[in-house]
Amino acid sequence: MDKESSSVSKRPEVEPKTYKPRHVVLVAENGERYKVDVEDLCRFSSVFSEMVDMPFAPDDGEDAKEPIVQLTEDSGTIQFLVAFLQGRVCSPTLATTPFRVLEVWIAADKYNAPTLQSFLRVYTVAYWDILANDPVYLVHLADRAGWLDLAWKAARETLKIATDSVEQQVSSLKRKGMETHVASRLLELHESRRDSLVELTFKTFKVVILPDDLPSCVCGEVLSSAQIFNATASLAYLHHRIELRPLADFLWEPSFWAQDRFTGTCDNCHSGFWSSDAVVAVSDDSQLSESLATLFPFTISVM
Ligand SMILES: [Zn+2]
Repeated sequence: MDKESSSVSKRPEVEPKTYKPRHVVLVAENGERYKVDVEDLCRFSSVFSEMVDMPFAPDDGEDAKEPIVQLTEDSGTIQFLVAFLQGRVCSPTLATTPFRVLEVWIAADKYNAPTLQSFLRVYTVAYWDILANDPVYLVHLADRAGWLDLAWKAARETLKIATDSVEQQVSSLKRKGMETHVASRLLELHESRRDSLVELTFKTFKVVILPDDLPSCVCGEVLSSAQIFNATASLAYLHHRIELRPLADFLWEPSFWAQDRFTGTCDNCHSGFWSSDAVVAVSDDSQLSESLATLFPFTISVM
């Protein structure tokens, strides 16, 4: 960030009798006050620069009071602005959220402070792991700020949380300005991943289920009612887990498949009804492998 090089609009000559303040007090929505250097403020934003150029009435004496500028932003946002214009970086805390970054970005847009907007992108990338604790809002932030590459990266972060939780947050954010196409894209991503995963789970399942027919092993042996019950319950469990953890990294963990629920075998051919080998062998299926590669950049690279 080279703030020195940013252009400062030429200010008109100050009338000899007008008072030129050295400091200005910014007041947040809640009344908290922040005294800032006028030069810092003018370098930071052309809107403030023009505001400060207006002649202020001279106060009595040398110890004139600083002009007070009431702002509509909350104190968290003003603190970030003040830190930035003083050349400090607001170090991230647990309270650092995509919500805050977006509030600051909106303020930077309003006050025409492009250097702060560029900085916010750098900040977002630098503290990605902290901001990704709220991945749905992170998608909203990246989209609003026009960082399309980061919006896609953030969309994939949402696959670390349960799909129903994403759906709830998306519907609440749509009321707060999330674009409809962003919301749909996000939900489509989850849907498409779910479809691919469900398809994958059927590949691990060595039971044939045909309409109007009893479920049977691939060898033709009809399953007993207890086996049908267990297989159905295991399948439901599997799909429920996929809803809860859309990344479904557990599918590639051998211990997951070692659970009792996946160890049922056929009475006739003695082969297991579940084959985790099919998950590992997914790369042999070019179409499925391609759809998963788009959705599963992390998992595929491990395989
Ligand atoms: Zn069999």
